[in-house]
Amino acid sequence: MKEILEKLKSEAIEKIENATQINQLEEVRIRMLGKKGALTEMLRSMGKLSAEERPLVGKSVNEVKVLIEKELSDKKQMLEEKALMDRLGSESIDITLPGKKPESGTLHPITKTTLEIQEIFASIGFSVAEGPEIDFAKYNFDYLNTPENHPSRGMNDTFYISEDVLLRTQTSPVQIRTMLQNKPPIKIISPGKVYRKDEIDATHSPLFNQMEGLIVDKGITMSDLKGSLEYFARSLFGKDTKTKFRHHQFYFTEPGAEMDATCPKCGGKGCRVCSNTGWIEILGCGMVHPRVQSMCGIDPEEYSGFAFGLGLCLWHGH
Ligand SMILES: [Zn+2]
Repeated sequence: MKEILEKLKSEAIEKIENATQINQLEEVRIRMLGKKGALTEMLRSMGKLSAEERPLVGKSVNEVKVLIEKELSDKKQMLEEKALMDRLGSESIDITLPGKKPESGTLHPITKTTLEIQEIFASIGFSVAEGPEIDFAKYNFDYLNTPENHPSRGMNDTFYISEDVLLRTQTSPVQIRTMLQNKPPIKIISPGKVYRKDEIDATHSPLFNQMEGLIVDKGITMSDLKGSLEYFARSLFGKDTKTKFRHHQFYFTEPGAEMDATCPKCGGKGCRVCSNTGWIEILGCGMVHPRVQSMCGIDPEEYSGFAFGLGLCLWHGH
């Protein structure tokens, strides 16, 4: 009996020592300590032994059982640690590899254009004025000398919040607010979002960005208007840019004009961008209407001014 026990013990220990996988340990456990395991069988057959032998054999078998259990558990822990270390080793981060560069954003083209135009006008003394996008209808229409029956006042063209409050259709309310609150000299540009009920297509949107400008001072003439806006066009499109002014009727200017510049894409030769005309329309402008000045409390006999406005789109191709 003792010999068999010794044999089982050394056999089990050897198997445990040689095991490289956790499932091999499980096999040993089942073979020795399982329900039909060798040690379990030995304990079960102790009934055949004499009363003197029984406790001695029982003690020996139990000692071997405890020993094997401990060996199994030690080896299992070792194998588990090794598996973990292997996994960590294969997954470790190689800090000598180049890192992943975070994607950096850039300014939206319209923001870029806005900043660029602001800079050009700042260089000739204009400061930036801003106003609310939800504004009173009177600042958007009445103070701008818009006729009572003008279609732009209608629900079809303009988003109304209430009868006399709307989403501004132009940044001109900023000009009105500035004139109402300040005495000349006034020299501002007002960039911002404006809203009109347009269907979305390649060149229209219910929301777009505008930039307007206003000068009011003593002795401002059409020459100042032309000089300033030609300077602007050359600064934005290049020094060889030519400009021309076509008469255009606005309610808030007298006289009014539209300014064209030679196409920055083809330099005036004609291309797809300028529909082969060599020119693109840049902005609307004019001398501030005397009635607009009067409504804002600025005497048109003493002061004069010019204003301009342009839609900020991507035509300048930067
Ligand atoms: Zn062109």
